[in-house]
This record gives sequence, C-alpha cells and structure tokens, in this order.
Amino acid sequence: MILPQKHSATGTTIFTVMSALAQQHNAINLSQGFPDFPIDERLADLLHEAAKGAYNQYSPMPGVPMLRQAISDDFKRRYGLDVNADTEVTVTPGATYAIYTAFTSVLQAGDEAIVLEPAYDSYIPNIEMNGAKAVPVPLSAPSFDVDWDKVKVAITPKTKAIIINTPHNPTGAAWSRSDWDKLAELVRGTGIYILSDEVYEQIIFDGKEHYTVLQHEELRQRSFALYSFGKVFHNTGWKIGYCIAPPMLTQAFRRIHQFLGFSVNTPGQYALACYLETVRNEPISKMMQAKRDYFLELMRDTPFTIHMPAGGSYFQVAGYERISDMGDMDFAKWLTEEYGVATIPVSPFYSNKKDDKFVRFCFAKKEETLREAVGRLKALSTASLVK
Ligand code: PMP
Ligand code: GLN
Repeated sequence: MILPQKHSATGTTIFTVMSALAQQHNAINLSQGFPDFPIDERLADLLHEAAKGAYNQYSPMPGVPMLRQAISDDFKRRYGLDVNADTEVTVTPGATYAIYTAFTSVLQAGDEAIVLEPAYDSYIPNIEMNGAKAVPVPLSAPSFDVDWDKVKVAITPKTKAIIINTPHNPTGAAWSRSDWDKLAELVRGTGIYILSDEVYEQIIFDGKEHYTVLQHEELRQRSFALYSFGKVFHNTGWKIGYCIAPPMLTQAFRRIHQFLGFSVNTPGQYALACYLETVRNEPISKMMQAKRDYFLELMRDTPFTIHMPAGGSYFQVAGYERISDMGDMDFAKWLTEEYGVATIPVSPFYSNKKDDKFVRFCFAKKEETLREAVGRLKALSTASLVK
C-alpha cells in the first residue's frame, strides 16, 4: 500500500524536534514559542467555574456567542473597529487550524499561494494539502523587509492567496500602514485573498502600534485575519483562536470548519469570554518588551550577533558566525547537547532550507530562565571557532 504524499515537508516539525531534544538533554528550552510563567489565576478560576457549571457540552459551531461578542467589543475598544460578532467572527481550535481552514476556504487544486519567507512552518504544507502550489518569496535578510518587486513578479493569473504574518515569526519584524498600502496596490483588481496571521498583534515594541489588515478598508474586504488567545493570555496549550473576516468569507470559512473541527472546547470559551469582558490583562507588549530588553542585555556578553532587536513577537534571531561555521540545524543540536540551551534553527522556515546561520531564541520566559540560559551561553568562547 502506498500512502499519498500530501505535502512536501519531510520529518517532524522543528518545534517538536527541538523541544524533545531539550527534554532529552535537560536543556533550558528557548526553542518552541511558549511562555514558562503561569496564567492569571483569575482566568484559571473562570475555567474551573465553567467546567463545574453548565458549560461542558458542544458549543455552537461558530463559537460561544458571548465570546464572539467579547472579541467584537475588544476590537472596538483597542482599534475602534466594528466587527459583527454573528457574521464576521469564528472561534477556532487555535490559529494553526484557522490558517489551514482559511487556505482550504479559498484554494483549489492548481491554484498558487504566495508565502514570504522565512515563514511559519505550517503555511506551505497547508497550501499543498489543498493541491495548490506554494510560491515562496524571500524577505531581505537581515532587515527582513519585503522586496515588493519580487512579490509583483510572483503574482500570476493562478495566484489565489497571499499570507502575511505581522509581527513576524521568526524575525520579529512588524508591518506598518505603508506595507499594507503597497500590498493593496499589487492585489487591486485581482481575485487574490489575503490571510493575515496576526497572532502576535499584542506583542509589539518600541512604541510602534500593530496595524491590522482589518483597519485597511480596501484590503479588509478580501482578508481573513487570524488570531490566537494563546499568545495573549500565555495559555498556548488551550489552543483557542479565532478568524475575523467579512460575511462572505466567514461563510466560506464556516463551510469548512463545520466539517473539520465543528466547534471548540466550551469551558475554555466561556472562561475567555468572561475574562475579556470583565478582567482583561494588562497590555502585554510592555511586559514582553522588558523581557526582550533583558535578554538582549544579557546576550551582549556572549559571542552571538544581534543584527536587529525584535520589533514584536516573542522571538529574537541571532547570528553565531563568531562561534561556529556549522549549519544551523547542527549548531542548534550541538548547543542543546553541549551547552544545555535549546533554540530553533531558522533554515526550516525556508522551503529551500536556506541557511543564513541564524538561530531563534524565545524570550517569553521568566527572568531567571533567561539569566540561567544566557549564563550557559557565556561559556562559549569567541577565541575558538568550533568546526
Ligand atoms: N502563526 C504563527 C506565526 C505562530 O507563531 C503560531 C505559533 N504559536 C501560530 C500561528 C499558531 O498559533 P496556535 O498555537 O493558536 O495554533
Ligand atoms: N508558534 C510556536 C513557535 O513558533 C510553536 C508552535 C508549534 O509548536 N507548532 O515556536
């Protein structure tokens, strides 16, 4: 029996590989992106209350109405945007699922979808699982700005979608209004849909504000905006996210969702709805920026090179050319095994495995974790280049 090859990625996702390696070697895990500090106790209490109450059966397919309303209110409060809770919001089991569902809503076999690389590792397999072709366009390292001429050349009559991620994983780069304007120029008059992966919308630094595709009136009409509560409330394991899209696109999205996941765990939705409406966290950018700054300060005493401080997300990319000339996969494994610090090599974020000799650190960690990890990295000698 021959099993079909549904996508071109080989092996297991790098996040699983590196977290497992970290565990195996008892290393400090700065690889996979998840916080190591607890969630707000009040949110945990709300989950407990919901599970002890009457909230344990299937939720409505689009999501618990109270949560969809809370999301709508949240977008009004934070962005001044009107989002219709009934016709524009769908709650999903995480953003990864929402991305797949959005691609599946618009792609057919033979279509093309543009991906700016480096890119989150699920995008290309998701496109290919739909029988479509991923068209990668490289960002310009080390600033990771978009080369608009390259995007223009990549667009063909077969292009059906383009996926954007801001603030960006793994580089931390964040788009401003002018980037969206440039994209709008290129897609005007075409049938191209936009998937806007904005899971790090609330983690943006140095006074910059997140600009969502929903604020761009023209682009909003053709866009799926995708979010994850995991990144906002430090509960990545809850796997609850949502999609905001205009009614026509939301209908298409729900046509797939109803036969894929159908619905999302109910007590989690109630807990999040109550939390959003009544408690709400402090904005987390400030707290995450303090972590980034602390991490960067510590890293000064190591031989890693920081080309650009992360502008958002919870990741910092660093070069290791003063330490070793190994490939990034080997380097990340070596660092985990020999120095007890796990990172993510950046080459798996490229379809052609382009190796710029960068690794990605997750700084969404307690100060003591960062201090201990960088303490170990300080032992790396600049004098001896490891072969
Ligand atoms: N997009 C990006 C860019 C991510 O880094 C992640 C990882 N958290 C996701 C989507 C997926 O989010 P979720 O955990 O809600 O599936
Ligand atoms: N988004 C997280 C990261 O980039 C991990 C998600 C996952 O493990 N699939 O590290």
